[in-house]
Amino acid sequence: MKLWVDGGLRDAATARVSVLDHGLTVGDGIFETVKATAGRTFALTRHLDRLARSARGLGLPEPDLDEVRRACAAVLEANPMALGRLRITYTGGLSPLGSERGDTGPTLIVAVGEAARRPDSTAVITVPWTRNERGALTGLKTTSYAENVVALARAHEHGASEALFANTVGQLCEGTGSNVFVVLEGRLLTPPVSSGCLAGITRALAAEWTGAEEADLPMDALERADEIFLTSTLRDVQAVHRVDGSQLPGAPGPVTAKAMRVFDERAASDLDP
Ligand code: PLP
Repeated sequence: MKLWVDGGLRDAATARVSVLDHGLTVGDGIFETVKATAGRTFALTRHLDRLARSARGLGLPEPDLDEVRRACAAVLEANPMALGRLRITYTGGLSPLGSERGDTGPTLIVAVGEAARRPDSTAVITVPWTRNERGALTGLKTTSYAENVVALARAHEHGASEALFANTVGQLCEGTGSNVFVVLEGRLLTPPVSSGCLAGITRALAAEWTGAEEADLPMDALERADEIFLTSTLRDVQAVHRVDGSQLPGAPGPVTAKAMRVFDERAASDLDP
């Protein structure tokens, strides 16, 4: 596999970043995951906008988005695959041991791996840990992901593929790497960004294409919902058939099935040139 680092394509086996990179030592970095079908990305401009927003939020120098585009194109060309997941990482760069950034400037890494087509439905759990809707990192896609790793491991222990968080005031927020939608009393609803969730790109497109509304939701909305689905770059729209111990019979239900269909059709015709 060839990846992009240090301004060019390198062999993945020998590509190196410093052991003192701030992304490694303190998790000071941002990232994006972008889907590519037969070498064509989906929603790359939205991902780059969010990368730039995350950089500003973290106080990193503005990424050179032309270089990021060139890197994505070069990596996709060097690694042909039917369905790929590009991973763009932009870190604090080489820094002395300590918590302040050094002055070498950030490190850009673009890699790609095979992506699997999502199963139509999945099980989720809720976890007792909270998302902070008012933190310095809220809404930024940072590489400080260890809490998600712990929650996801808990989900896997329970035969689930995702863990859902409440925020600090007990409202439904998001998953470790996905946003959540519920069908409640005939309405399709998703938590607002003010809940502390990431402004998911799939969330925004799915909401636009299905007419879903934003609403603050208590956690027990998950018990009362007729249907639940997740959205993310790698899941697209994915039905939930079990939350903790409770089954949602017939998942994907009619609203979810329609959202999946609409998303698949629109996304397939909206690939980047
Ligand atoms: N929420 C979190 C915490 C995420 O990490 C992600 C994606 O990785 C999402 C939501 C979904 O966002 P997107 O649809 O842009 O992939």
